[in-house]
Formats: sequence, structure tokens, C-alpha cells
Amino acid sequence: METKWYEEGLRMIEELTTHAERIQDELLREILSRNAGTDSGTSGGQLKMTPVTAEVAQKGELFRTLYESPVMKHFGDINQAGKRMEFMFARPEIETPSGLTAASVTTSIYKESWFRAMLPKCYTSPVETIFCPETEQSLYCQLLFGLIQRDEVVLVGSVFASALLRAVKFLENHWRELCSDIKAGQISHRITDSGCRSAASLIMKPNPQQADLIENICNSKSWEGIIRKLWPKANHVRCICTGVMRQYTAELEFYSGGLPLVSALYASSEAHCGINLNPLCKPADVSYTFLPNMAYFEFLPPGYRYELLVTTSAGLYRYKVGDVLMVTGFHNNAPQFQFVERQNVAISVDQEKTSESDLFKAVTEAKALLDPLGFVLTEYTSYADTSSAPGHYVLFWELKQKEGNNCKELDPKIMVECCYRLEGSLHYTYKIYMKKNIIAPLEIRVVKQGTFDALMDHYVSKGASLSQYKRPSCIKS
Ligand code: AMP
Repeated sequence: METKWYEEGLRMIEELTTHAERIQDELLREILSRNAGTDSGTSGGQLKMTPVTAEVAQKGELFRTLYESPVMKHFGDINQAGKRMEFMFARPEIETPSGLTAASVTTSIYKESWFRAMLPKCYTSPVETIFCPETEQSLYCQLLFGLIQRDEVVLVGSVFASALLRAVKFLENHWRELCSDIKAGQISHRITDSGCRSAASLIMKPNPQQADLIENICNSKSWEGIIRKLWPKANHVRCICTGVMRQYTAELEFYSGGLPLVSALYASSEAHCGINLNPLCKPADVSYTFLPNMAYFEFLPPGYRYELLVTTSAGLYRYKVGDVLMVTGFHNNAPQFQFVERQNVAISVDQEKTSESDLFKAVTEAKALLDPLGFVLTEYTSYADTSSAPGHYVLFWELKQKEGNNCKELDPKIMVECCYRLEGSLHYTYKIYMKKNIIAPLEIRVVKQGTFDALMDHYVSKGASLSQYKRPSCIKS
């Protein structure tokens, strides 16, 4: 019988994880001997640029095979079964003073020849929509192409959960217009990008039947399970749901109607790190297994929570990625970790330190009060207000009603309850400081719907990649 490509990937994972220590030693020796004559610099600036070599790109391709293999083991060879509707957003490239091209890591993948070659066969989004510089036009077109090819879609996703939710919310506001385009076989005048228009002209033809079906589904009062209804052949939803993306899990579960949410990989622009060997595992329990051939990994300090350091073939030497990980076990001889939080992302008004996960836990407790009232907390962030003494925490909340697209006013008494619940769920030091009046009472400000989308657009306009966007846990101004 012919061996499937992902079976080769699975075999390689066993081999790599069994000989993890030897492979790490060899990799480090190779990196150090190659760079023995180098004076190493440090990066301290705002914009983080990491070097990419042909070798790094090759590792990226291998990493992809390895993280896809366990997923394929469960869901079959997706490349053969149909298409992926993944929301992808490229950023314009820039040129460095020395004449090198700099791009976000996802953009450089979208430019790779192997990716371009598989795009028309394996994805619903044409390349023009991925490279469209206008976020809203790109979203509109990627949804349009995904809806037109809905019967072929076997996977719905994006790199991080936030971009996928942004797409679902965009669909909630634009499905009527999308359906009328599908009915007429013509793309809306709102799309002015010539690349998107010409890509649409190649595939669109009037399809009133399909438009009616989609309209019926979108017209229902509740959008529970909408992903499954619109893309009935999809067998899983693929996006990173761990770390700062945890807050989106409940909402994604609501829209995906029981489809498994798969966080397949753990990687950063600095290094490809780990893969999820158990893709069906609940997002809260996901562990990633380190791949010893991707980079040399060190874990500081000794304990059960570690900060990750990488030494890479591209020249990073003991570089702090800024992630905190918790050890959960081993696969063969390779360590497995859960993602805990970003290092140093803490809100603080005095000596106390509230980490990303402290905040997440407290918000989770407080938002449970909204659930019976039919409200969902879609986004949050925090701010340390020290403009008056004592300082206090401000939380910005964006709310949405489970059914319908409007948002009724919430009883202020409930919001006061939420503040108490939040404070009660924060750590010991916070409570002591509250008692001693070192911290003033916490405040929740409910923001207009769409505020967090606007925040995302703001960061994208400043050069962030929408594909890699992570909303800040704490804002500075
Ligand atoms: P970037 O700098 O855009 O490449 O993003 C890399 C960062 O995203 C990592 O350092 C992590 O903080 C976060 N990240 C990547 N993969 C995961 C994951 N599977 N779970 C949680 N956070 C992740």
C-alpha cells in the first residue's frame, strides 16, 4: 500500500522525539561552529526584525509537514478531501537600509513558491485577496470565495483565533450584500481592488439557489453553529486558541457548533517550536511537543514554569522569546509544554503584579454573571490608571448579545457585581492592597461595539500583521 505523506511525517516525529537530546546537541554544535567568528549584537528597538535564511525557510516547510501530520491522522488527508477556508492577510514588504526585504513571517510564507503552487487546489482564497492591502476588502472577498465554494470546504481557520472571529463578525454584518453578489454573479462595487475584482470575474457566475440557501442560514435568529451550517463538510476549525487567544474559545465554540477546535502548533517569528500531537484535545488542555531539530531550546528558570530561550540557525543566540511555558510531560524524550502567558505582560499600579493569566482567570469568573442574561464578553483589555492616587485598574469590555446583533443596556447593578467578582478573583496581594487603600476600586468601562476591531485596524495601520495580530492584554495610553 502507498504510504501517505503524513505517515512519513508521523514516523519522523517519533524519530526526532526519541533522539531529542542528541539532535539538540548536534544542532547547537553546528550553530556554534558555524558562527564562531561572529560578534553577536542585541535587539533593543521597537520593531523586531529576525533574519530569515534559505535554511530557515526550509525548516518552516518541514515544520508544516510535521504539525499537519497528527491532524491528518485524525481527519484524513485534507489536501485530497477538499479545500481550506483560511483567512490570510499579507502585509506590504519593506526594504531595510542595506537593501534586504523585510516581511512578516506569514507574508513570507504566502510568497513561497510551494505555497503559491498549492493555493488554487487546496485553499478557497485566491492570492489577490490575501495580498489586498485593504483589510475590509480582503475579508469581504475571502468570505465571498469561501461561500461560493462552500461545498468543498473541509477546514475553516486562521493562524490565530482573533482573525477568524473578526471574519465571522464581519459576515454577520455583510451577509446580505455577499448573498446578493452570489445571486447576481457579480462582485459588489465596494470592492475597488483590481486584483480582487479580476479574481472574482474568473470564478463568479449567477447562483440564486446557493444565495438563497446561505441567506436562509444567515437569517436565523441565533448564529449558534453557523460555521457548521454554512460549511457542512468542514470537519474541524483550525486556529491557535491557547495563550492570549483563550478568551475567544467560548465564542468560537458557539459559532462552530461542536466542530473540534484544533490548535496545531506553537511557533514564533524567531523559531518554530512545537506541535500538538493530540489535535482533538480541548483547547484548555493543549500541550505542545518540542521538535529538537528546529532550534536549540533552553528553559529558564528551573521549576515547572519556564521562560523560553532559543538559539537558531539564523543567528539568534540565547534569545528570550518572551513566553512562559509550563511543563506537562514528555513524548518519547522530547518535553511537552502548555503555553502559560507572555512574560512581563502584567498590569500593575503599585508593587503588585497581575499577569495575563491572573487577569484572564478573574475576567472568566466575572463574565459568568453575564451568561444567564444572554450577554457575551467578546473582547477585553486593561489599563493601569494612575492619574489619581491611589491608582486603579480599568478594564475595557466589549459586549454582545447572544442573539441578535444589537446590544441592550445592561443594568449598572450587574456591572457593579462584575467589578466585585473581578476583584474577588484577583490574587492575594491585590486584595491586601485594596484593603489598605493602596489600590482604588476597579472600574469596568463598556465600550461601543466594534471598538476592538478598530483597535486591531489601528495596529495594522501601524504595520502589524492581521494574520499574526494579538490584542494587547494591557494598553499603555
Ligand atoms: P509572532 O511574534 O507574531 O511570530 O508571534 C509569536 C508569539 O505568538 C509567540 O511568542 C507566542 O507568544 C504567541 N503564540 C504562538 N503560538 C502560540 C500558541 N500555540 N499558543 C499561544 N501563544 C502562541
